[in-house]
Amino acid sequence: MKRVVTVTFHYAVARRIDCEHCGMPYTYVYGETKSASEEQSAAFADDEQLRQVALRKAANSVDSLAGREQIGRGRCANCRKLQDWMVVTPMAAAMSILFVGLAIGAVLAFGGWFVTSEFLDLSVPIQIAVSAGLAAATTLAAVAAAVIGGPRLADSTDAADSNDPLSMSDEELLAFIGTCDGIGPFLSWWARAGAPPKVREIPFDMGIKDLSTAPLVLGNALAYETRSAALNRL
Ligand SMILES: [Zn+2]
Repeated sequence: MKRVVTVTFHYAVARRIDCEHCGMPYTYVYGETKSASEEQSAAFADDEQLRQVALRKAANSVDSLAGREQIGRGRCANCRKLQDWMVVTPMAAAMSILFVGLAIGAVLAFGGWFVTSEFLDLSVPIQIAVSAGLAAATTLAAVAAAVIGGPRLADSTDAADSNDPLSMSDEELLAFIGTCDGIGPFLSWWARAGAPPKVREIPFDMGIKDLSTAPLVLGNALAYETRSAALNRL
């Protein structure tokens, strides 16, 4: 019998960036849940100790997830456009389909060679013909899938007039923070935008990473670095 203890964090983090289209700074929020488990044989298990280890593991992965430079997806609060890195372009989508298709083709070609040489006892020219045929057929199929599927898989960016609940201008952000008593504004924003923490999840506000060339004065308590340090002290 094993005893398993799982710890789940529900975190939210904000990024303030300069829009690459209009140059205006804006802030968008992003969040997700992250779990970690720790197990031990039931005879020796100390629940509190297991919980501590699981908590450390989960906190470490939250820290590295929330610290990534390019995460989330929020339209500019000024010009309503997504940043290019938030968007999957038709070309990028087509390239990933092509890559998967060619990988499948390579596996089929090797598989064809293996089956014809090991099990069917065919001559070498026929083995080559079978492998090359399989590779050629999958390559054609992969190219066709990429040409047709690329534009369909890509994001459309023309909903640019819609108001994005995940983004705020500086004025909106300052007004919103003013209503939050300084506690977990980004977590409540993320919850309000549709992803509230569930029962048994540990809610954690990871603060804001200000990447703008003209940083906004929001106080250390809300800074990503401060919240990251607090997470590591849990
Ligand atoms: Zn913009």
